[in-house]
Amino acid sequence: MQNEQPEILFTTEEVEREVARLAREISDDYRGRRPLLVGILKGSFVFLADLIRTMDIPVEVDFVILSSYGPGTESSGEVRVVHGLEQSIEGRDVIVVEDIVDSGITISHFLDDLRARDPASLKLCVLVDKTARREKEIRIDYKGVEVSDEFVVGYGIDCNEQYRYLPDIRFVKTGEE
Ligand code: 5GP
Repeated sequence: MQNEQPEILFTTEEVEREVARLAREISDDYRGRRPLLVGILKGSFVFLADLIRTMDIPVEVDFVILSSYGPGTESSGEVRVVHGLEQSIEGRDVIVVEDIVDSGITISHFLDDLRARDPASLKLCVLVDKTARREKEIRIDYKGVEVSDEFVVGYGIDCNEQYRYLPDIRFVKTGEE
C-alpha cells in the first residue's frame, strides 16, 4: 500500500460539472421517454448514481458485471459477462454507462451483445475516454473527460480495489499501483 495519495487530474468540482453537463444532454435527448441505463460494475456505480440524480427525466437502471482485466492494469483481450441483465431490452432505449474506455475491447464486445437483442436504440455514455491505446473504433455518444494513457482511479474507479471512495479523479504513477 502506498503512502502518498495519487495526484488529482480532475477535481470534485470539475467532475460534478461534467456529470451535470452529461445529465443535461441525456435528459434533453430522451425527454418524453424512459431510457434504461445499464451500468457496468463496479467502476460506474458512483458515476451512474450521480448521473441519474442530476437528470430530470425518469429512467430505469440495471447493472452488469463484465470481466476483462485481472488484478493488473492491462486488458487481457478476453471479455466475460459475469453477471448479466435482469430484463429484456427488446424495444427499449438503452444507454450503457461505463467508467472508462481504454482499448475499447470490453465495451465493443458488450455493445455487440446488446445490439443482437433488438433494443429500440443503443447509446454509450463514458466518464473517462482514454484515447491513447484505442484498438477498437468506438462511438461515444456522451463523453465526460479525456485522458491520454494515465491509469486513473477515484470516483468509483479502483486500482486493486483501492481509491473507489475518492470524490475526484486521480492518476496512479507507473510502479505505484
Ligand atoms: P478496455 O477494454 O477499453 O481496454 O478496458 C476497459 C476497462 O478497463 C474499464 O472499464 C476499466 O475497468 C479498465 N480500465 C481501463 N483503463 C483504466 C484505468 O486507467 N484505470 C482503471 N482503474 N481501470 C481502467
